[in-house]
Amino acid sequence: MPKPFDFANILFAGPCNLRCPYCIGRQLNPALNRNNLNLFPLQNIDKFVELLKQHQISQIVFTGTTTDPQLYRHEARLLDWLRDRLPPVETESGLREVQFSLHTNGQLALSKMDVFNQYNRVSLSFPSFNPGTYRKMTGSGHMPDLAEIVRQAQIPVKVSCVVNQHNAAEIDEFLARCRAIGLRRIVIRQLYGDPHPWNLLIHLPQVATYHRNPVYDYHGMEVTYWNFHQTGSKSLNLFSDGTISPHYLLTQARVNV
Ligand code: SF4
Repeated sequence: MPKPFDFANILFAGPCNLRCPYCIGRQLNPALNRNNLNLFPLQNIDKFVELLKQHQISQIVFTGTTTDPQLYRHEARLLDWLRDRLPPVETESGLREVQFSLHTNGQLALSKMDVFNQYNRVSLSFPSFNPGTYRKMTGSGHMPDLAEIVRQAQIPVKVSCVVNQHNAAEIDEFLARCRAIGLRRIVIRQLYGDPHPWNLLIHLPQVATYHRNPVYDYHGMEVTYWNFHQTGSKSLNLFSDGTISPHYLLTQARVNV
C-alpha cells in the first residue's frame, strides 16, 4: 500500500536575513508564523515524532515559512534529538536511516559549515550570480559564495532557483556557472501563484519526470522544472505554532493525520 506521505517538513518562522518579495510565508495564515527560532523543544514536536514513526516517514526537511532554518538557535541539537528518537524506516530497498535535508538561502552556510554537513543533503535557494539581480530577488546585496559552499560541502548540494522576470533571461548562463562549480542537480522553480510556465528549459533533452515535473539534462547536470501547482508529492508539516497538517499552504482548519 502506498505511504500517505513522501516526506515531512519542520517549519521555522521568525525574522529572516533576506527579504524576498515573493516570500511564500507571507501567503500563510500569520498565526502559523510564530517565531520559534529560540524554542527548544519545538511546539508539539513529541506528537510530530509519533506521527513520523506511525507513517514510516523517511525524509525530514528543515525549512522556513518566513525565515532561514540556519537561523534556528538549536539547529544541531534538534538534529541530534531527532536522530536519537527516530528508528530506521522500512523502505522498498530495506531498512533505512531517516534522512535529513536542509532548505536554506545559504547566507549562513559557510559560518555554520559544521552543522550544514550534519544533514544528509541540502537544497540551497540561489536565484542569480548577478549581484543586481540577486538584490532585486532577495532584497540583499550579500550573495553567498556558492562555489566555496560547494567546495566545503561533504554532502550533496542541490540549487533551487526561483524564476521570475528578473532572472529568466539569465538561465542559460546560470546553468553554465552552476555546472562549472561542480553542482549536479538544479531545480528551476516556478513561483507559487504564477500561472504561466516559463518554458525556459524546453530546448534541453527531457530525461525523466519527477512528481509530474519534467527533468532535463544539461551536459550531465540534472535540471528539474518544478511547478508547485502540478506536484503530486505529499508532506506532513509541523508549523512553528505547533500545528500539524498535511497542507502546506494552510487555508483549511487543523485536520487529523
Ligand atoms: S529566504 Fe526564504 S524565508 Fe527568507 S525572505 Fe526569502 S523566501 Fe522568505
